[in-house]
Amino acid sequence: MAKDRYQDFVEHPRYGRRPRKTGLEPRPEPSEHVFVHWHGGRISETAITADTSRQVPATVQVTHYFDCSRVCRGCERRFIFFAEEQRYWYEELRLPLEADAVRCVPCRRKVRELQVLNLRYQELCHSDLSEAEVYEMVEIGLVLVEEGLFQGKVLNKLKAMLRQLLKSSAYSERANALLSELHGPCC
Ligand SMILES: [Zn+2]
Repeated sequence: MAKDRYQDFVEHPRYGRRPRKTGLEPRPEPSEHVFVHWHGGRISETAITADTSRQVPATVQVTHYFDCSRVCRGCERRFIFFAEEQRYWYEELRLPLEADAVRCVPCRRKVRELQVLNLRYQELCHSDLSEAEVYEMVEIGLVLVEEGLFQGKVLNKLKAMLRQLLKSSAYSERANALLSELHGPCC
């Protein structure tokens, strides 16, 4: 079978990776009061009709949504911002019509997870920490360094925290294992 152009698109957990053809292709003619969204990447014959009364008021309400192809800002792979997804964003969540999908779903999830971790890390920064919390903070810190949210110099702080834990009866083994990972494989 010939390779289809959507084969390498990121899969959406709900809608898949291929456009959902509806056969609807409204023409933007003012006389018929048709206003379509997103000119970039629009995939033909995928339109669904919008309920403009449910959208946040805008200068121009959108009468139809189309599946649109996008390039993810995180992983740089292509994905589809589905018409159904847009309806959900603009009519259920009532996001402003100019809100665009800049990341694929897996990358959006990852960003949210990292935000949660980052918040937890900041929270830990302000408290009097138990050994368990010191270890938790180091683990979170390492993820955030790996993901590029923290600069590499934070590593020195994390290593110092791990060295403190070497004296702990509950955490010394784990701290030792993490420290040797950070110093590279030893022989
Ligand atoms: Zn992505």
